[in-house]
Amino acid sequence: MSHDCLFCKIAEGTIPANRVWEDELSIAFPDINPQAPTHLLIIPKQHIASLAMADPEHKPLVGHLMAVATEIARAQKLDHGFRVVINTGDHGGQTVHHLHLHLLGGRAMNWPPG
Ligand code: 5GP
Ligand code: ZN
Repeated sequence: MSHDCLFCKIAEGTIPANRVWEDELSIAFPDINPQAPTHLLIIPKQHIASLAMADPEHKPLVGHLMAVATEIARAQKLDHGFRVVINTGDHGGQTVHHLHLHLLGGRAMNWPPG
């Protein structure tokens, strides 16, 4: 991939990550700065800059990422619950501009978010 994207490099393997999940469409790996006992990032292998940039053609892919979150949560026995977050754009607090789901678990979460 020619453009400079951290998560594309992780998806390609140029930058190593501990792949706790991989399928033909997605990978998941631990967040480098975890905010909960379990904090994984689930990303599409395909570059999509944000949820706001997802097109109707990406609906199956976005649904797939959500289903992967459920599968990983089951595998990691997050039986008390978990949280899935997609920070989007400046006001959403997005810092890496490649679509990603945060899967957070292992502690009780608060609401509203900061
Ligand atoms: P955002 O703020 O865009 O929703 O989330 C980006 C996340 O990527 C942050 O939680 C941040 O800790 C994580 N992150 C940034 N750089 C790296 C990296 O090089 N490796 C991993 N595993 N996570 C990263
Ligand atoms: Zn990318």
